[in-house]
Amino acid sequence: MSHPHRILQMGPLMPGLEARLAAEFDLQRLDTQPDAEAWLAEHGAGIVGMATSAVHGCSAAQIAALPDLKVVSSFGVGLDRIDLPAAARRGIAVGYTPDVLNDCVADLAMALLLDVARGVSAADRFVRRGEWLERRFRLGRRVSGARLGIVGLGRIGRTIAQRATGFDMPTRYHSRRPVAGVPWPHEPQLLELARWADYLVVITAGGAGTRHLVNAEVLDALGPEGFLVNVSRGSVIDEAALVKALQEGRIAGAGLDVFDREPHVPGELMQLDNVVLLPHMASGTVETRHAMADLTFDNLQAFFREGRVRASAL
Ligand code: NDP
Repeated sequence: MSHPHRILQMGPLMPGLEARLAAEFDLQRLDTQPDAEAWLAEHGAGIVGMATSAVHGCSAAQIAALPDLKVVSSFGVGLDRIDLPAAARRGIAVGYTPDVLNDCVADLAMALLLDVARGVSAADRFVRRGEWLERRFRLGRRVSGARLGIVGLGRIGRTIAQRATGFDMPTRYHSRRPVAGVPWPHEPQLLELARWADYLVVITAGGAGTRHLVNAEVLDALGPEGFLVNVSRGSVIDEAALVKALQEGRIAGAGLDVFDREPHVPGELMQLDNVVLLPHMASGTVETRHAMADLTFDNLQAFFREGRVRASAL
């Protein structure tokens, strides 16, 4: 059987997705090449599609090295590592996997919020260390009825806000533009939102536009009784300022799924018992990852069959 379309895979993907791609296309892998740049220079021409992920991305240099590239399909919703302007300039279609992960990312944001407020992970460590035999675990903070500030009311932010209604949490949000048709008040100033909130959940897009949006000033506005949850991108938080604020007790705690230099987590954070650290796993359920794999595949297949990706990032 001939495979008319040559596709370049940028990094490891789910085995089932790799198998489907290999069955449907002439699949080449860049990440297993000893010298990716040299390989691209020799084999870049003729590659018409790319299968990548939010982690592996697609740079302007890689796009430039692929003169016949027509479509990029990315596993994930984050676009901070995909050079969209470079793709748009060449008229390259870019597919991604929005919406199918909203529920599971929102669920994990709530799990982090509950954990950091009530000390679930810390209490588990306490029991395992045998400390329950000697004393009681510290008191947590109430979640139900507390004020929730959401930074970024996009697809996932809205899903988190819906979850919070079940906890009777008054909810407000900050984003550059107010969202029409939602019941939650928009707060144009992030500092004001942080001052108001008991819990600040960050779920904006990553990239240059949101770099260090949550800085020392925002953390001080959140204050010693306030908790931070980040499920967006590590770059959105000034990590050094966060470490300092936590060490000095200027905020009450943090639940973090994402970091600046993943998979490296600052050692200072590991020392703190009021911090919950997760390995970038917010979308990581069997159901959601399969849905993301299906959409990654469908985006490529639809492009070659119908001339357009199912879910376009452009
Ligand atoms: P959307 O594009 O639907 O929402 C992004 C939101 O961010 C919008 O409300 C947007 O509003 C806001 N935003 C963008 N720039 C700024 C800014 N400078 N200041 C304030 N708000 C801003 O994306 P999703 O909800 O689908 O996903 C959000 C992000 O979550 C993804 O980009 C990804 O990085 C991250 N993510 C993390 C996962 C994980 O595993 N931890 C899994 C999935 C996603 P406006 O434009 O009006 O400012």
